[in-house]
Amino acid sequence: MPETPHSGDKSFRGIPVSAGICRGKILVLGRTRPAIAKLQLSDAALTEEVNRLEKALVQTRHEILEIQRKVSTGMGAQEGSIFDAHLLVLEDRTLIDEVLRVIQEQKVNAEHAFHTVAERYATTLSAVEDDYLRERATDMRDVTTRVLNNLQGLDEEADLRHLKEPCIIISHDLTPSNTAQLDKRHVLGFATDVGSKTSHTAIMARSLRIPAVVGLKDISGQVETGQYALLDGLNGVLILNPSDQTLYEYGQIILRQATRQQRLRDLLSEPAVTLDGHRVLLSANIEQAADAEQVKANGADGVGLFRTEYLFLNREHLPGEEQQYQSYREAAAALKPLPVVIRTLDLGGDKFLAHMQMPTELNPFLGWRAIRISLQERDIFRAQLRAILRASAEGNLKVMYPMISGLDELKQANALLEEYKAELRQEKIPFDENMEVGAMIETPSAVMVADSLAKHVKFFSLGTNDLIQYSLAVDRMNEKIAHLYEPTHPAIVRLIKITVDAAHKRGVRVSVCGEMAGDPVLTPLLLGLGVDELSTAPSLVPSVKFVIRRLKLSEARELAAFALECESAAEILARCQELTWGIAPSLFETK
Ligand code: PEP
Ligand code: MG
Repeated sequence: MPETPHSGDKSFRGIPVSAGICRGKILVLGRTRPAIAKLQLSDAALTEEVNRLEKALVQTRHEILEIQRKVSTGMGAQEGSIFDAHLLVLEDRTLIDEVLRVIQEQKVNAEHAFHTVAERYATTLSAVEDDYLRERATDMRDVTTRVLNNLQGLDEEADLRHLKEPCIIISHDLTPSNTAQLDKRHVLGFATDVGSKTSHTAIMARSLRIPAVVGLKDISGQVETGQYALLDGLNGVLILNPSDQTLYEYGQIILRQATRQQRLRDLLSEPAVTLDGHRVLLSANIEQAADAEQVKANGADGVGLFRTEYLFLNREHLPGEEQQYQSYREAAAALKPLPVVIRTLDLGGDKFLAHMQMPTELNPFLGWRAIRISLQERDIFRAQLRAILRASAEGNLKVMYPMISGLDELKQANALLEEYKAELRQEKIPFDENMEVGAMIETPSAVMVADSLAKHVKFFSLGTNDLIQYSLAVDRMNEKIAHLYEPTHPAIVRLIKITVDAAHKRGVRVSVCGEMAGDPVLTPLLLGLGVDELSTAPSLVPSVKFVIRRLKLSEARELAAFALECESAAEILARCQELTWGIAPSLFETK
């Protein structure tokens, strides 16, 4: 970014989570509506005002019926019936007649009349001692918001799938399902008040290659829809109303970055091999079969992590065996003979389904998540494992289980896999009898029993995003404690080493598929610790390859030996930076 801010620029600093620079109009999501003005109207305008109100009521009724239909199909008739109360508000003649009277007698606009009358009803209801009636106050306010939106021509919430023009999305937070919906053609970038580098939303942004900055504290309260901004996802800055000088300087930065990108692209068909001849498997993480294109386009050796839960988000129904089979088969066929590691469902944590009853938990990351759900919801697990097995006939597929915390879970999952294989044999459906099975190592307990787990798998994949949060007791989503989330913490370095040693003793390969794998500064440390494979967002593969091809494994091993003795995360990080900045300086220029 430019050395000094220019006058007229107003900049906000946050956590950079997805590199790239964009500029454009801001769209603020989830904001409270503009104040409702009271307009005095002429007699001649009153008929039109009544028509406007009636149109808004009809439109609102259609909207509610549509939501009710979706909820009833997705969640059940009982949940859908909640909206009956909303429809009743719209049909309440006493309310509507009173609004009409206010419009005509006071000669005011429909928004003001509806808001005043409905709010008076809601206030009265919320003061009543009866729980049922108090609930009706909430219904009344929900419906009022919809009617007012329609009267004011505001979208209920911008439809992220069908944005009308290119924009930078600003929001308090974006859930993984919001992010998954983003219409990439029109989302230039996004910035949020909260969040961290390893939240799934940040991971999605990298995979979609959308510049993103999180942890901007109160940005959603400080900017307005329609303002112009520049977002720098590499340095974690949002500049509101950038001056001409700033735009010019960023223009120069974009040109220099394009040259660096070109240099990285030159390596696409080169292998990830160190200067002293050590071949590293460098794979990509994907969320959908269509991402296979990006895997090839970025010169990866295959897929080290296919996060299948994204197939389940933003849908009205759970995808069944057939639908999943098509998706896994598509990825396998597109990348054949390259390997594709499919991870079974990792729901829970910050990934929830609208159509599945998931309990509200106090500690969702320690709760009903990942393999724990799969082992209990057998139908879902069965459909997924059968789909993966069937697709294994079409390419080089492997399966791995997320969040294994002990041997029992791994054995249970493997036993079910065998059961489903037997079913397929009986049904004469082909699959790869030798499909490899792996376990994610992302809990401290899995590290400590890695020697036992290694007897039952062909590979481990270190999920460092979770391993760090569980080992250091630092919520990966919480920007307030982001400074404590330290991948180079001595405990993490040692946990990785324990895993690698336990695995290699049994001939089990070790991959890292957490965000550490995509940080080129940490590449030498991971390779020095003996990790065999790195798997990261497709867009980060070229930078990691660039470092690998300038590194000697001997230097990496020295660095790891130092880190295993060192007592300070900051010192380990400083050594990692010293090494990587020395061998690949151009990669780390931020201007
Ligand atoms: C991890 O925890 O490092 C990982 C790769 O899994 P996820 O980020 O999907 O939890
Ligand atoms: Mg994980």
